[in-house]
Amino acid sequence: MAKPRISFEYFPPKTDAGKDKLLNETTPALNELNPEFFSVTYGAGGTTRDTTLGVVSTMREAGVDVAPHISFGGDDEDTMAELLQTYKARGIKRLVALRGDMPSGMGTAMQLVHANDLVAFIREKTGDHFNIEVAAYPEIHPESKSYDSDIHFLKKKMDAGANSAITQYFYNVEAYFYYLDQCMAAGIDKPIYAGIMPITNFENLARFSRNCGAEIPRWICRKMEGYGDDLESVRKFGLEVVTQLCQTLMDSGCPGIHFYTMNQVEPTREIYNNLGL
Ligand code: FAD
Repeated sequence: MAKPRISFEYFPPKTDAGKDKLLNETTPALNELNPEFFSVTYGAGGTTRDTTLGVVSTMREAGVDVAPHISFGGDDEDTMAELLQTYKARGIKRLVALRGDMPSGMGTAMQLVHANDLVAFIREKTGDHFNIEVAAYPEIHPESKSYDSDIHFLKKKMDAGANSAITQYFYNVEAYFYYLDQCMAAGIDKPIYAGIMPITNFENLARFSRNCGAEIPRWICRKMEGYGDDLESVRKFGLEVVTQLCQTLMDSGCPGIHFYTMNQVEPTREIYNNLGL
């Protein structure tokens, strides 16, 4: 069995201490697992533009393959073109291109640019320089008109020049494989990598999942609720569930796994080791 592509996602830390830990402790530890690349998210509306750029640049200088996430947010085309040139000049070869969400408190004040238009813009300004990943939703994006329309727009992102997609996290493995089949039937022939969220803080995960349209199956919720404050049992069960999910994905030929690490070495490393990668 071919080893699936492995990648690790970070968010830009808010404090200098957080940045220091991420760059000097977390990255060396996760880099030992030989990921294809790391990625660093972009705050809604471009709110972390400088931090994302700073973290990505420092990682690149240290020889790490890293992809910034990018979205127009409230920026105009000149600002976006300049950011792309900065990334290019700093040796960045990959991007994760997104529409993004409205920053909280902004209402609908900002006109968001759909990811297919961003991908087309990147290709227009920088040709084939960047490998571009886009987002995909096996359980369907919460704003989508229908299941099929979300796949239609994923196809538009691919046709605009994206190389592959990374999914929103999911715990229903059937949803992912059904989605792959539907994408293939719609003419999408590029890889769709599975986004995997290890379970650390269950309450936070449950809250976040309600907003982003990822379903946590009832049996997992009930089991987690039963553990209450017993964090060690939550940790063990979370590891077991996510390891099994990844194993099933790998056994069924999933092209790769993108771990939402939440800037932590564990439990991503433990799951990775459980899988015998
Ligand atoms: P789009 O692809 O533009 O889709 C958004 C919605 O509009 C969907 O319902 C789609 O069906 C529909 N749609 C798409 N194109 C069109 C069109 N041309 N016309 C009409 N409707 C259309 N958020 C961040 O803020 N920062 C990040 O760094 C970040 N990283 C992420 C990484 C991954 C792998 C994933 C899966 C998500 C990430 N997100 C991030 C969340 C993402 O920004 C939100 O889910 C956002 O609501 C949609 O972004 P998108 O790129 O999928 O948008």
